[in-house]
Amino acid sequence: MTQAVIAIHGGAGTITRAAMDANREREYTAALEQVLLAGQRVLAEGGSALDAVTEAVRLLEDCPLFNAGKGAVLTHAGTFELDAAVMDGATRNAGAVACVTRVRNPVLAARAVLEHSEHVLFAADGAEAFAEAQGLELVAPDYYFTQARHDQWQRAQASTGMALLDHDAAALAAKAAQAGTDPIDPDKKFGTVGAVACDAQGNLAAATSTGGVTNKQVGRVGDTPVFGAGCYADDVAAVSATGTGEMFIRTVAAHDVSAQMRYAGLSLEESARRVVMEKLVAIEGRGGLIAVDRQGNVTLPFNTEGMYRGVARVGEPVSVLIYG
Ligand code: ASP
Repeated sequence: MTQAVIAIHGGAGTITRAAMDANREREYTAALEQVLLAGQRVLAEGGSALDAVTEAVRLLEDCPLFNAGKGAVLTHAGTFELDAAVMDGATRNAGAVACVTRVRNPVLAARAVLEHSEHVLFAADGAEAFAEAQGLELVAPDYYFTQARHDQWQRAQASTGMALLDHDAAALAAKAAQAGTDPIDPDKKFGTVGAVACDAQGNLAAATSTGGVTNKQVGRVGDTPVFGAGCYADDVAAVSATGTGEMFIRTVAAHDVSAQMRYAGLSLEESARRVVMEKLVAIEGRGGLIAVDRQGNVTLPFNTEGMYRGVARVGEPVSVLIYG
């Protein structure tokens, strides 16, 4: 039996310590701890890695502090388009949705695709019709709305007109209003959420969910729902990523962590380090990832100033970190 473990992230980016006062830090830390405890409970009760990551990401989607589900960032048109994926390492079953605008929990839609469809990835209207047919909760678009993301989007439109990573957009916001909305520089942050787990049987799973990047073009799909890029699990490693999605797609980042271990015999830590600190950096990719292997080793590398992250091993206290 392996000592079961779950790791989560809530996005990476330019964390401005100036904007992170003690209260904000407590808020983020408490939210991450609650999610870790819930994931840990699933594993402690004998639940699968797949169930643990799905539950952790569902809770992160419901928390408005993070850019997924409620609290998602806005597109250039001021709308919301969400992406999510989940993968089971034991079977390599996978499910994902892209550009959904009405599904309360995109990760549950992804999970339904994994379990109940012959297909792997659904987009837009078809994804929503599938979710509805599966009995999942649909919401009006203003369900996702938070004032903080709206302000961040307005600043992005005014300052650059370009798509910004959530935590990067947040840094801009913090600069503008030292009072600070989001301590990871709102204009240099990636706010995607994710989870990876290894259960007592040594089976692995990964899930990732996001609103994408602030001010993105309508129809843009990032790495999150692309298997091998922002989410991947097999019998070697499970990986969930956050960052400049285009570069994670171009480096097939999540799959590469597993591939380097399988083909080159690298350790989990060294493989993830090469992906995040060398291969992504070489094409100016910013962000990080969380990864776990069958032995329950966990690594959480990032090439930004901070990444909301935490680890919980069954039978041990949970640990949460924000800065490097
Ligand atoms: N990777 C996500 C995307 O490109 C953004 C993020 O991680 O914040 O959609």
